[in-house]
Amino acid sequence: MRLCSLASGSSGNSFFVDTGRTRILVDAGITLRQLNLRLRGLGISISEIDAVVVSHEHTDHTAAIPYLEIPVYVSSLTIDMWKNSVSNLKVFESGVPFYIKDLLVLPFSVPHDALDPVGFSLQTDTNKKVGIVTDIGSVTNLVRERLKDSNVLVLEFNYDESLILYSHYPWELKQRIRSRLGHLSNGEAGNLLKSLVHSGLYHVVLAHLSEVNNKPELALNTAYSALFDKGAKDIRLSVAPRKRLGEVIEI
Ligand SMILES: [Zn+2]
Ligand SMILES: [Zn+2]
Repeated sequence: MRLCSLASGSSGNSFFVDTGRTRILVDAGITLRQLNLRLRGLGISISEIDAVVVSHEHTDHTAAIPYLEIPVYVSSLTIDMWKNSVSNLKVFESGVPFYIKDLLVLPFSVPHDALDPVGFSLQTDTNKKVGIVTDIGSVTNLVRERLKDSNVLVLEFNYDESLILYSHYPWELKQRIRSRLGHLSNGEAGNLLKSLVHSGLYHVVLAHLSEVNNKPELALNTAYSALFDKGAKDIRLSVAPRKRLGEVIEI
């Protein structure tokens, strides 16, 4: 299985997953041109992608969606938004697993200020499991349950609690980000990570970092200390870059 972030953060998100037989994108929130360029960097053309699964309708996750001809899976509650603009629309229900070829996709609800936002648990028939949550204002038992036993985790580390207090963002926007329907702080993400450490966890991708309210080294420090607290030494950490390919993960 091969995984790679194509873009991450408020300027666009997309994550590439390849089982060897099935290739999907989780979200496509950059321009079609950029999507093509990043995929080319992986030696893939967009016509080789089997489908895109969409976490929620915010533009930083969906910018390329109306321009794609490949199947696009969206939550049933958001279908009205897409039915006139997407040529190959497919529907999923949050909480109901479905297959894209050999890849089992389980969308699950996350707290965020969108119509029906979801995270994804992806499983192969060789029992490899990947958990992806970005844009999550708070951690629920459901989220923890769906992410547990993942071999690779892609977790939002959006903002540093002290940087956001002093940043130039307007107060209302800070409140939105920090609310239970906004985004996850480094501290909250670190606690989530701590609860998800197990012997089969191989790699954690820190994702959707704020450009203004976070720094990669702060997010990494929090994640390292979460792993250190659990005595986990062999779990690899990487930060998903905002505007270029991330580390290619092979499991
Ligand atoms: Zn987002
Ligand atoms: Zn969002």
